[in-house]
Amino acid sequence: MNIHEYQAKALLKGYGAPVAEGVPIFSADEARDAAAKLPGPLFVVKSQIHAGGRGKGKFTELGEGSKGGVRLAKSVDEVEANAREMLGNTLVTKQTGPAGKQVNRLYIEDGADIDRELYLSLLVDRTVGRPAFVVSTEGGMDIETVAAETPDKILTRAIDPSTGVGDEDVAALSDALKLEGAAREDAKTLFPALYKAFVEKDMALLEVNPLIVMENGHLRVLDAKVSFDGNALFRHDDVKELRDTSEEDEKEIEASKYDLAYVALDGNIGCMVNGAGLAMATMDIIKLYGAEPANFLDVGGGASKEKVTAAFKIITADPSVKGILVNIFGGIMRCDVIAEGVIAAVKEVGLQVPLVVRLEGTNVEIGKKIIDESGLNVISADDLDDAAKKIVAAVQS
Ligand code: ADP
Ligand code: MG
Repeated sequence: MNIHEYQAKALLKGYGAPVAEGVPIFSADEARDAAAKLPGPLFVVKSQIHAGGRGKGKFTELGEGSKGGVRLAKSVDEVEANAREMLGNTLVTKQTGPAGKQVNRLYIEDGADIDRELYLSLLVDRTVGRPAFVVSTEGGMDIETVAAETPDKILTRAIDPSTGVGDEDVAALSDALKLEGAAREDAKTLFPALYKAFVEKDMALLEVNPLIVMENGHLRVLDAKVSFDGNALFRHDDVKELRDTSEEDEKEIEASKYDLAYVALDGNIGCMVNGAGLAMATMDIIKLYGAEPANFLDVGGGASKEKVTAAFKIITADPSVKGILVNIFGGIMRCDVIAEGVIAAVKEVGLQVPLVVRLEGTNVEIGKKIIDESGLNVISADDLDDAAKKIVAAVQS
């Protein structure tokens, strides 16, 4: 689960991290009041969407000459004018995809005098099974580019969870970031504080890009991106409250209500599969035959008819779906339950696109019979290969 920058900053501030004063707002009038409360003379108007690269983004409605989604303003009037221009419009960044995201909230923040922009993140390093800091002197730009072009400018340092962040860790990270004087002192409290927040709140990622050294020599968290481990949300009611469902895919929200593992993708073949491995294989084989999956969907083992019905409805609700492939290898999942779920869903929502069904495993004969007798126009397939060929052909014809 992701949260907005201003929420992440408030959370980190609670752990003692240095962040600027700022106010989240929803209207241009509020922007004016918010700026008037800040020290000035420099203000920053920051779009709050769940995507990075906002500074270099463009607003669709403002055309090619559009200024970005993070803007400096030198007066309260300028803050208001920028807020008017940005609110309600669509910001397209490297991370939003071409459709962009509507900006409905802004964060009005005190401007900082920046000396250097650094990169810092915390994540779980799976190769060593520990939380790790990733730091670089090349902040403010995307770390993927730094990793590709100048990998020697990145330091990854895993932390021993039994001891936490030690003096040696802080020193190594500070050296890599070339921190001196006040900034080096600040790091001694900041790095352990960030680590504490990361671990206590079960974060999957904590990215500060940039972490800045200000002209006065001190460190400040200038941007903050936090995502939480969804499997640990049950023990963080405070974090759950930060969820902004308007930033999430509606189909994914609906799927989460039924505990379905669903991820929306860009292709046009809707997939209903049981088991994550089979779902991955199904996506691969669709690509092998020249088409693209519209989603990843694992209905899980032992799904009920209601769950299958919900899954099928979510797939058909996606307007880009031009064909559906149901691929079930029933072990715990029974083929007759799948068949009943599919038919119940089709009766409710209709079937406007070709449907290929491949059933194998427990109660397969009963499942096939239910489908055959339903009168539905279903293309049946014998195995995965056959099923993939048939759905790709049906969609492409
Ligand atoms: P994004 O990563 O989405 O583009 P950032 O918050 O990193 O958004 O902002 C982009 C750039 O804008 C920063 O790298 C920094 O140069 C500048 N910036 C952001 N916030 C401030 C601020 N409070 N004061 C001064 N400059 C800022
Ligand atoms: Mg940033």
